[in-house]
Amino acid sequence: MSARILDGESFAAQIHREAAARATALTRKGIIPGLVFIRVGEDPASRAYVSRKETRAKEAGISSRTLVMPESTSLPVLLKEIDLLNADPKVHGILIQSPLPSPLPNDVVYSRVLPSKDVDGFHPVNFGKLLLGDESGFLPCTPAGILEILRLGGINTRGKHAVVVGRGQIVGRPLAVLLARKSPGADCTVTLAHSSTPDLPSITKQADILIGALGRPLFLTKEHVKPGATVIDVGVNRISDSTNPRGYRLVGDVDFPSVQSIAGAITPNPGGVGPMTIALLLSNTLRAAEDAIR
Ligand code: NAP
Repeated sequence: MSARILDGESFAAQIHREAAARATALTRKGIIPGLVFIRVGEDPASRAYVSRKETRAKEAGISSRTLVMPESTSLPVLLKEIDLLNADPKVHGILIQSPLPSPLPNDVVYSRVLPSKDVDGFHPVNFGKLLLGDESGFLPCTPAGILEILRLGGINTRGKHAVVVGRGQIVGRPLAVLLARKSPGADCTVTLAHSSTPDLPSITKQADILIGALGRPLFLTKEHVKPGATVIDVGVNRISDSTNPRGYRLVGDVDFPSVQSIAGAITPNPGGVGPMTIALLLSNTLRAAEDAIR
């Protein structure tokens, strides 16, 4: 058996088309949706991520720019820039690219963005709304993108056992809450596994839907997977590769060839969760702009 591919690129293209139509409708009303990225420092991966997101936003008709700040930026200077963007009516969404240089406290910085402009969904208010099932908040883009992959991929989630491996704040924890919600496209029985989970394969083999969000290269193999399960690979990991001019290549948390032979459906990596994360960011930004004129 070879698993059906859940093609994140084509699902994302569908969302991009919808985003472009929403941006056009806003522009006709005199509102140009605006998104600002803040990148602190020159981390090469962050540069690549921000540039890709900015390009996609522009393609969808969202006015976007990146504020680049030096690695040595102090907390007060960064907070002042966030305050200026919070007060700017032309800016509907603000995304602070992680990771921040280590002296800058993530919690303080992310909480400074107005919840109504927090299109990344990291503000405590939006996180609290997620827990409460209050749909007026912004959902974090990667977990929301995974739900869209399941929906657009026609995966039945109701009453299914979802096992999320990894309880990180950005993906695993919010995703577990979203999958457990009593709503269409969710309604799963959820197990949230982590590094202290004993005998992980005995847990993951019970999953109808298995999500790898642990940041360990090629960790999940067919020994972890129930035949016919849906497998979503969130991981983005660097492994050294002397045949690659960069000296490394990017791989997921799932050993794709091994798992594809047993799963029912699987996301490729790249081309699965990554493009959907960007698509949901654009969708959140447009909602922020639409909300601003209500
Ligand atoms: P994180 O905050 O570091 O969390 C990793 C989680 O994995 C932790 O809960 C950890 O357990 C668990 N874990 C680590 N080793 C494990 C093991 N051997 N067995 C079981 N659980 C284990 O990471 P994150 O920010 O959630 O990111 C996870 C991955 O997703 C990374 O590769 C990241 O690059 C990727 N990512 C991709 C996207 C995208 O758009 N594609 C977006 C965000 C993140 P403990 O809690 O016990 O330490």
